[in-house]
Amino acid sequence: MDLFTELHEMGHERVLVCSNPEVGLRAVIAVHSTLLGPGLGGVRMWPYASFDEALTDALRLSRGMTYKAAAAGINLGGGKAVLVGDPKSGKSEALMRAFGRFVDSLGGDYITAEDVGTDTSDMDWIAMETRWVTGVSPENGGAGDPSPVTAFGVLQGIRATAQRLWGDPSLAGRSVAVQGLGSVGGYLASSLVEQGAKVFGSDIDAEAAARAREAGVEIVPPDQIYDVACDVFAPCALGAVVNDLTLERLKVRAVAGGANNQLEEDRHGVELHRRGILYAPDFVINAGGLVNVYNELIGYNQERAMRMARGIFDNVLRAYAIAERDGLPSAEAGEKMAEERLGAIRSLGPRHWDLAVREALARPR
Ligand code: NAD
Repeated sequence: MDLFTELHEMGHERVLVCSNPEVGLRAVIAVHSTLLGPGLGGVRMWPYASFDEALTDALRLSRGMTYKAAAAGINLGGGKAVLVGDPKSGKSEALMRAFGRFVDSLGGDYITAEDVGTDTSDMDWIAMETRWVTGVSPENGGAGDPSPVTAFGVLQGIRATAQRLWGDPSLAGRSVAVQGLGSVGGYLASSLVEQGAKVFGSDIDAEAAARAREAGVEIVPPDQIYDVACDVFAPCALGAVVNDLTLERLKVRAVAGGANNQLEEDRHGVELHRRGILYAPDFVINAGGLVNVYNELIGYNQERAMRMARGIFDNVLRAYAIAERDGLPSAEAGEKMAEERLGAIRSLGPRHWDLAVREALARPR
């Protein structure tokens, strides 16, 4: 498809292609919407095979951030960035600072944070060049890694899913298969063990799998995680894991996890619904990290951040209730929740940013 047509159809405001060959920088920053606030979303570092693959990821992920903030009631817009490269071998201070300069050039319409392949130390480098960065380390004045709050929110969403399925949010005696035992999946898996659940897990990284095994997780090979017969499948690695091939293999009552863009295509959400597998919309259940960086932006208060993250329990239940009321797959119900809020705020005028965000952005640094 022609890029302009694609941008128009997906509703993006702008896309910045960033290149600095001297430091090996190849990146795309996509700002989907600044209606509710600045477009906030992490920067993913991944060895994309082509520019098209990187661009598609940036476009899909940034639109997901608009929906995530809107559905969670957070006054932020949607943006996301991708850096092409291997996060294990391709990082340097110069690369991150060069990326920071591109972020800065957008004047606050895009605010970055960590995502797959990036962490607080990268944010500290980016913060040398721009104030439009969150997830900065506490030593440098930030709120640190948002992953524990993301995992806490996902746990609330799995409890809400249990409430919906069995009328009881307790996870004691339930079984969960966690795909990806990195920052989010690792915290999630150990919290599930603490809650008394039987936890299966997989990771392509042997160290991450070994850490989880220590925490009481039964490790299965990465290609077998879809075949584990259990209550909940919790994707916490990359996207598009619910697809034509995996749907045939899932033997679970629900899909509820932290990864972004879990459905390869919208029709896979319809198919989950048809098969009677409850789906917690990814952008509703994984909003905890966004909650944390939003709080960092307006002045960090841990109690408020955790209270907001606890609200994910009710938000996931609300998506299920809208799905039932309107006879929709829950993925579409989550989008409806987000679109209703975007529509309501749009009627207040363009770029209707709330006072807390405006004051935070105007504060001298
Ligand atoms: P991470 O890089 O720390 O962890 C991802 C893990 O998945 C890694 O250990 C990796 O080895 C593993 N993995 C990759 N492919 C795999 C496969 N095929 N099978 C099994 N394991 C595989 O990243 P993260 O921060 O934990 O993010 C995980 C997901 O959650 C991503 O989709 C991310 O966008 C989403 N997310 C993260 C946050 C956050 O706060 N970190 C917030 C919202 C959403």
